[in-house]
Amino acid sequence: MIEIRYAVEIRNVRVSIDKNEILDSVSLSIRKNERWAVIGPNGAGKSTLIKVIAGLLRPVNGTVLLEDNDLRSYNPRKRALAMSYVPQKPDGVIPYTVYDFIMLGRYASMGLLGQATDEDRRMIETAAGICDVKHLMMRTMNTLSGGELQRVLLAGAVAQNSSILLMDEPTTFLDPAHERLFFDALERLHENKQLTTIMVTHDINSAIYQCSHIAALCNGKLSFAGGTEEFRSKCPEILEDVFGIPFKRFTCNQKAESVFGSWGVSCH
Ligand code: ADP
Ligand code: MG
Repeated sequence: MIEIRYAVEIRNVRVSIDKNEILDSVSLSIRKNERWAVIGPNGAGKSTLIKVIAGLLRPVNGTVLLEDNDLRSYNPRKRALAMSYVPQKPDGVIPYTVYDFIMLGRYASMGLLGQATDEDRRMIETAAGICDVKHLMMRTMNTLSGGELQRVLLAGAVAQNSSILLMDEPTTFLDPAHERLFFDALERLHENKQLTTIMVTHDINSAIYQCSHIAALCNGKLSFAGGTEEFRSKCPEILEDVFGIPFKRFTCNQKAESVFGSWGVSCH
């Protein structure tokens, strides 16, 4: 049996829109079960990169491979079975109840008749429990707060039960308790099944402590791609390069852990 080398492999991907280079020769090799954080300033190309991996945007040059197969050979159903995608924000109004929305995540796995089975209902319950949205099931999507919506989007992706989970700023609108719940849930998902995650985030410290690898994008180019330990050893300098502002390392008294925060920024 030939062993699969990478869950996701991005080779020399270039995206340009209206003559603007959005991604410039981006290459990234992601193995099964790795947890990647994609960080970088606004407009760096993070969402574009996630959309390219999700198959929602075709690069001008370069290829994306899923488990060594060219993504272009996947139809939408096969793609949905292989990976789920939590967008930064949904396009337009979603005219569904929360329950129906999460059920949508199950369709790729259903048979030809699209009938929900007990297994589908069980997966929905589990996903809703993990993301703490059980009490919202009968609400319509457009009545949710930013944080509630984010948890429901995540529940839809979890219910899909694919082995690659792409998330674009999934914790931006979450309060600290729900952010903690989210990372705990992700941890449990990783323990219970083979799961590769790629997550865009602005939370540098969560990236460092919750992820195994970091990709730092700046102006459409990768400034760093590798293990979290190596990244941490290059902090704060690498953060200063990527974000263009000073960062400082803070060390907690009780533990030897350090966190990083922006420092000395003044607005005129
Ligand atoms: P990030 O997620 O890192 O903030 P994006 O990937 O959303 O950045 O966008 C990268 C750059 O590409 C930004 O300058 C953005 O304005 C531009 N861009 C993205 N999508 C489009 C589009 N459809 N048309 C024109 N410019 C776009
Ligand atoms: Mg974005």
